Amino acid sequence: MRALVKTAAGPGLELKDVPEPRPGINDVLIRVRKTGICGTDLHIESWDPWAARTIVPPLVVGHEFVGEVVEVGSNVTDLVPGDVVSGEGHVICGRCRHCRAGRWHLCANTVGLGVGRDGSFAEYVVLPVTNVWHHWPGVDEEVAAIFDPFGNAVHTALTFPVLGEDVLVSGAGPIGLMATAVARHAGARFIVVSEPNAFRRELAARMGATIVVNPLERDLKDVQAELGMVEGWDVAMEMSGNAAALRSAIATMAHGGGIAILGIPTEEIAIDVSHVVFNQLTLRGIYGREMYETWYKMSVMLQSGLDIRPAITHRFSYRDHGAAFAAARSGDSGKVIMDWADA
Ligand code: NAD
Ligand code: ZN
Repeated sequence: MRALVKTAAGPGLELKDVPEPRPGINDVLIRVRKTGICGTDLHIESWDPWAARTIVPPLVVGHEFVGEVVEVGSNVTDLVPGDVVSGEGHVICGRCRHCRAGRWHLCANTVGLGVGRDGSFAEYVVLPVTNVWHHWPGVDEEVAAIFDPFGNAVHTALTFPVLGEDVLVSGAGPIGLMATAVARHAGARFIVVSEPNAFRRELAARMGATIVVNPLERDLKDVQAELGMVEGWDVAMEMSGNAAALRSAIATMAHGGGIAILGIPTEEIAIDVSHVVFNQLTLRGIYGREMYETWYKMSVMLQSGLDIRPAITHRFSYRDHGAAFAAARSGDSGKVIMDWADA
């Protein structure tokens, strides 16, 4: 089958023929139709320090996908060929304390699809049946392809209640854009999106932001004054990984506010802990998606009118993976989709 492979330690990816994966008794073999490019894939492609210490080539990369079931293992009874599915990219151990308690997203031994095992930038991918999400009727195929990052956005946006609250989203990458739409759908009052990139600020406005702001040009306190806010953000979603963004969120929270932190910093960040203490803030790290409550909520919100499609800005054939990765890396993009249907 055709697959996008990290063949050796170092930058680059190679489109090449590799053997088709075979499903074990508890697995599902899926014909991939569409895939999304994630920041993780960019790290692996460029072979940054994280990739160099994490990835063991050869590896088929990619983890965001939608596809069609073609074969199931002998233990699998609830899926049949033709079912439209996506995959939860965190393969859990099933045996650690949290797994046994049903808190799968807290598994201590998670293996990442396209990171620790062969991924979805290929004609076929295999996953344990417990990682397969059977889509509900009527789902848009491109939206289905990005359920994984959409799930990051939903998990983060629903961590603290946003109904009737004022929300800061720092970072309008694909995930911040989707989180903006989710916060709007979930009933927030003001949603202020802070993002230095003009292309992404424009998208954030389309996703439902009340005000979009360039943090390099405007102070968040100034925005709060314009909105007539007297206390501060009730909820912040940190989706940039940027130190200044986290610090300015902490500095502008209402007492008792909650900051859900999804963005992954590349180095340590110093913060004013006294502010966290005196203002009684809650800082909560978010990793992945809740299995499978987040997936359920995603499906329900799409059926009740949530539209994340404006966050998808670029579409390529898998053959043009170089251009697709360049678009994703450029910053002047939302979600970038690669089509594998004609592979
Ligand atoms: P992205 O890199 O495309 O988006 C980050 C955005 O932050 C960019 O648009 C950038 O311009 C913006 N930014 C930079 N400095 C800023 C500042 N000072 N204030 C506000 N915004 C600023 O990433 P993404 O794919 O949307 O993912 C968002 C973050 O979440 C990334 O840090 C990513 O590594 C992380 N992530 C975490 C998980 C998880 O499970 N925790 C999963 C996926 C991605
Ligand atoms: Zn576990």
